[in-house]
Amino acid sequence: MINRCPCCGYRTGCITCPVCFWTDPGQADPSAFVAVGGPNGDLSLNEARLNFALYGASHPRYREVVRKPRPDEIP
Ligand SMILES: [Zn+2]
Repeated sequence: MINRCPCCGYRTGCITCPVCFWTDPGQADPSAFVAVGGPNGDLSLNEARLNFALYGASHPRYREVVRKPRPDEIP
């Protein structure tokens, strides 16, 4: 079973998701409103999800580097 990205929900199974460019810090959902720092900087998971809905990437600066999910990555 490949892990779903906590940000975009696709089964990319990567530390840094190629679909939304969220980097999974191993953060549990209950604290999703808290920005934990690290690879995502001051971006919280909730903000990243909102950005993905708006821009198709966890941050607008990643719009050029993300790719569309493959059919096998769609949950
Ligand atoms: Zn993702």
